[in-house]
Amino acid sequence: MGPIPIAHYMAEANARYYASRDPLGAAGDFVTAPEISQMFGELIGLWLADIWQRARQPENVCYVELGPGRGTLARDALRAARRGGLVPEVHFVETSPALTALQRAAHPGAQWHHDLSDLPADRPLLVVANEFLDALPVRQLVRTAAGWRERMVGLDGSGAFVPVVGTRPMDAAVPAGFADAAEGSILETSPAAATVVQDVAGRLAAQGGAALFIDYGYSQPQLGSTLQAVRAHRKVDPFAGPGEADLTALVDFATLAGIAEAAGGRWLGTREQGAWLKALGIDARAEALTRGAPHAEEAIRAEALRLTAPQEMGSLFKVMGLAAPGWPDGAGFVRVSSDGPAAGTVTPQPD
Ligand code: SAH
Repeated sequence: MGPIPIAHYMAEANARYYASRDPLGAAGDFVTAPEISQMFGELIGLWLADIWQRARQPENVCYVELGPGRGTLARDALRAARRGGLVPEVHFVETSPALTALQRAAHPGAQWHHDLSDLPADRPLLVVANEFLDALPVRQLVRTAAGWRERMVGLDGSGAFVPVVGTRPMDAAVPAGFADAAEGSILETSPAAATVVQDVAGRLAAQGGAALFIDYGYSQPQLGSTLQAVRAHRKVDPFAGPGEADLTALVDFATLAGIAEAAGGRWLGTREQGAWLKALGIDARAEALTRGAPHAEEAIRAEALRLTAPQEMGSLFKVMGLAAPGWPDGAGFVRVSSDGPAAGTVTPQPD
């Protein structure tokens, strides 16, 4: 078998990786925000209830989560949303049998989909995706002396996987601004993430609703490979043991915002996770939780810091908000339109 594109390699490796295990938590390979604290999902649920209320509470709205992991975010978000009067039908897009089983135990009334194609098409959608886009395959192009080529994965003499350079010229796929990049430069794109965001934005335009994409990523286009593999909370070689480690790449939020707008969606803003959670009132929520459990004050404070501190998840992680054209601004985003006031902070409700 000859070399295969990085994107095929990443897709195959992650399909194998997620199919067979629950990778989340201290005993697994990595920890995500909803597994750190209930506050994360609660604030997302309040954000959804808030924008839904200000959109005049359309009926039959669906909560749609892409890659819901253990179902923890959905559990916390739906509990908080219910306090705001929002009780949506629940739809999960998930390919992993192992994680679907965990989600089914936590959300017996939900409906599952393998991809976005058979989601309801006749009603507003409230879409949430945390650490989903980063797991989708990236394509990499590398600049050689002879021009741009696709970065591939092949086998070396000892049977180990190694990155190799493809033979077919790929110059036509490179945006003009990067065409003359230095030899060795890598340009990464994610056609799969682009397709998901395009699909969601098109549905928002046609059906109404709003979406939050949360992931670690960058706000301006950049060069360089961001492909990484994590196993047991440590970075490992992405080409060693495919299917045994979580392969991710940083998300290119600027490109995705442009794709969302081109598909008819309204981009509400992209903000660092820490600033967004603070604007939504995470400190007030932490205080409220502490009043109910004074012995846990230290732990709650540490959880909030882990989600918001710049040196933890606060800066690298970004939150991108989208909505249907007729829907209001979303809370917590710096105002991007000139018509009308910015949406305010959502008020955490007492338990
Ligand atoms: N959102 C959860 C889990 C993040 S891990 C959390 O924050 O804890 C990535 C999730 O996306 C897993 O549920 C994984 O099974 C799912 N996933 C990965 N690739 C997918 C694909 N191509 N289609 C659907 N789900 C996918």
